[in-house]
Amino acid sequence: MKYSVPKGTKDILPEEIYRWQKAEQVFAEVCGQYGFREIRIPTFEHTELFMRGVGDTTDVVQKEMYTFEDKGGRSISLRPEGTAGVVRSFIEHGMTSLPSPVRVYYNITAFRYENVQKGRFREFHQFGLEAFGAKGPAVDAEVISILTLFFARMGLTQTHLCINSIGCPVCRTEYNRILREYYQPGLAGMCHDCKGRYEKNPLRMLDCKEPHCHTLAADAPKLLDHLCPDCREHFEGLTANLDDLGIPYTIDPGIVRGLDYYTRTVFEFVSDHVGTQGTICGGGRYDGLVEMMGGQSVPGIGFAMGVERFLMEVEAQGVAIERTPDVHLYIAAMSTEAAVFARKLAFSLRKAGVGCETDLMGRSFNAQLKYAGKTGVPYLMVLGDDEIASQKSRIKNMKDGVQTEIDLSNQSGIIATILNSKLHD
Ligand code: ATP
Ligand code: MG
Repeated sequence: MKYSVPKGTKDILPEEIYRWQKAEQVFAEVCGQYGFREIRIPTFEHTELFMRGVGDTTDVVQKEMYTFEDKGGRSISLRPEGTAGVVRSFIEHGMTSLPSPVRVYYNITAFRYENVQKGRFREFHQFGLEAFGAKGPAVDAEVISILTLFFARMGLTQTHLCINSIGCPVCRTEYNRILREYYQPGLAGMCHDCKGRYEKNPLRMLDCKEPHCHTLAADAPKLLDHLCPDCREHFEGLTANLDDLGIPYTIDPGIVRGLDYYTRTVFEFVSDHVGTQGTICGGGRYDGLVEMMGGQSVPGIGFAMGVERFLMEVEAQGVAIERTPDVHLYIAAMSTEAAVFARKLAFSLRKAGVGCETDLMGRSFNAQLKYAGKTGVPYLMVLGDDEIASQKSRIKNMKDGVQTEIDLSNQSGIIATILNSKLHD
């Protein structure tokens, strides 16, 4: 029997991992510079958490969640996103008592039972963050600026920021009435889900992917035109803050975001390249979520970025991700004695922080050279009985063929040769 990965999952292979590692490293670095610290949450939680925290009128909860009963009879779900788990953790660990704002970032896998397409998987990765406790628009702009900086540091130039406000419960009560009025005449022709949403949460109807519902949503009245004075002021504060930071944006009154918990600011970074799945990243403010989940009334804002979509965008924009070698030096040995010396030298160089390889396959000397050539290792050292006797050898730069004499008893000289000549690469 031959096995293959389940639909919608994938292997990330050693030859492509450097792209992931680079993105992870830069994201962690940028978040760190803003005072965010990493949090790691479980892969699965009680189903109830997502029903409440993501919202039981969302597609994610209604259609996409991997839910099962465990051997103890509990209903468990694989996390479809990170915010609900982070909010649970925030409340469970009493983080409200920490100095505000409490800022955490994460790098997680998420699971959704979806129609698999380009940029749409059943197991995918998200970089995300949440900032709790700050309610003004400055934090909204700061969170958005993290993404701007991350994209810039990764070399992306063409991402596009769209912002909107979806108001608060005050403006939404009135807006829901207006929306129901708009949808009422055509309700019979809408999908089953939207009929349910009409009663429970008409805002959700704006996000429906069914073609007919989608067309109706395009002409629906916009919440942005019906904000209460506080929400309007917050939105104006956000645009002013973004202007101050020189971050360009488009106001898109059509953004509602797929999850139930957002209030006021919502935003997306979109691309023209990732096909129909053009949203690389989505986020927004969720001022009522912590309280709804059983905590104190603490405002929050966050985002989640799809790492697969981000990396597709990197490729589509032709941005090269630098690949730094882990192994700098291959030590080829001509005899059994030289092989012993090579292994000892390699161990010692590794202890000093220089990546090395020596033969582990019992290859002939020529085969070792061939192997070194194939691996693309930047430097080669050749050891035979003569070299060991004289304690003199040469390090060859595999790119330009330039050879440098080295003294085998002088380890720092060997390291300096590799590091210095690297400057000329
Ligand atoms: P979409 O409208 O594309 O379904 P969404 O609104 O469901 O996106 P969010 O829940 O906001 O997405 O998740 C944040 C980000 O995670 C998205 O912007 C996207 O980049 C990524 N993402 C969401 N679902 C998937 C998936 N099935 N496969 C890959 N990435 C995904
Ligand atoms: Mg979705």
